[in-house]
Amino acid sequence: MTQLRAVKGMNDVLPDQIGRWHRIERTFARTMSLHGFREVRTPFLEPTPLFVRTVGETTDIVEKEMYTFEHHGESLTLRPEGTAGAARAYVEHNVHAAEPMTRWWYAGPMFRAERPQRGRYRQFYQLGAEVFGDEGPGCEAEVIDLLLRFLQDLSIPGVRVVINSLGGGATRLRYRQALVEHLTPLLDSLSHDSQRRLRTNPLRILDSKDERDQTAALGAPTIDAFLDDGDRAHFESLRKYLDALGTTYTVEKRLVRGLDYYTRTLFEITGAQEKLGAGSTLVGGGRYDSMVADLGGPQVPAFGFAAGIERLLIASEFEVASNVIDALVAPLGSEAATVGLGLARDLRREGIRCEVDTRGKSLRSQLRRADALGARIVLIVGDKEIAEGVVQVKDLDAHSEERMPITQAVRVVIDRCVAASRNVDSRPSADFARNS
Ligand code: AMP
Repeated sequence: MTQLRAVKGMNDVLPDQIGRWHRIERTFARTMSLHGFREVRTPFLEPTPLFVRTVGETTDIVEKEMYTFEHHGESLTLRPEGTAGAARAYVEHNVHAAEPMTRWWYAGPMFRAERPQRGRYRQFYQLGAEVFGDEGPGCEAEVIDLLLRFLQDLSIPGVRVVINSLGGGATRLRYRQALVEHLTPLLDSLSHDSQRRLRTNPLRILDSKDERDQTAALGAPTIDAFLDDGDRAHFESLRKYLDALGTTYTVEKRLVRGLDYYTRTLFEITGAQEKLGAGSTLVGGGRYDSMVADLGGPQVPAFGFAAGIERLLIASEFEVASNVIDALVAPLGSEAATVGLGLARDLRREGIRCEVDTRGKSLRSQLRRADALGARIVLIVGDKEIAEGVVQVKDLDAHSEERMPITQAVRVVIDRCVAASRNVDSRPSADFARNS
């Protein structure tokens, strides 16, 4: 029989790797909660028009990368990003009527049929957030600052913030016209894709990785010359806030990003190129003041970002402890297994992670298992121990061994393992304690 494999570009995350994922997810949840954001969960499947209308009909995502299918006559799409679904939920549940400002975060898988490579997958995980109802640049600076702290907590080196302003709708139209005028005489030198984009979505040409397009775009006008007074004041104010917070950033006039819904502020945070290569963008975000209204809601301004977990994993340098349990209960014989099951239950009630090895194996093989799982303590229960009402406590770290009554053994395990857990960050409670 042919062996079935995972879909190309979609990865399994095995338990050996999950500790680092948990650390990132928990650090994010904690960071967001410190800033008053609450978690929202929206479906993985959405009606296709949601993405066509928001992300944009002529973007790479909508044109080439969506997993779309018909189901009972309705076109559905596996979400390629999280903002559109969050905005849909915001409108659908009339959230604006209940609160003037809304701060949501989310985490979960996104799906894009891109060409898989390191840091670019077809199912990937994003951490993201949206602020609805605040049109000013203050929240933008706060969010960028929050992200820098988050990346610092994950020990990510070489972080760089790049910002730009795309202006409002009218600015975009005027800029688009100027770009078309600059690029039309160069049409033949553009890549095939960009020749088409010149008609459909000329701003995207600035984002092209093709050298021919990059050369053609070199002398192109930049958007800053087209910003109106309001756009300009907004951007200046953002810069003032960032300066006041001591944030180092670069203004990149050609930054456009691959989604159409952005207005005014746009930003990216990149990590070290040596680690991440071409996919060095860790976080992308910006303002999208017309999306809520475009989805049938009121005119509510919004700002948000998304970060890719896989890229954070590649870029980060923190380690997590790999021990799976604190103690292994090693019974020798079937009567001992019964006692062992009860003993393990007592330990778990006290928060000690433990496993009982009920396979009926030799002590040697059980000790091997304890070692493989990173247990600090092995509690050995044999016929002799049962008869005497004791248990043998073998401390693998301290290389010591003592016999003692069961109740005392439970106390000893708690004392030693809880003390040890203060230095271990694979345990949930320790994780939070470290970051608080
Ligand atoms: P975007 O939604 O395109 O603005 O992307 C936001 C962030 O999600 C990027 O900066 C990456 O960290 C991550 N990301 C986007 N596309 C992929 C992908 N195909 N595979 C892995 N991560 C991705």
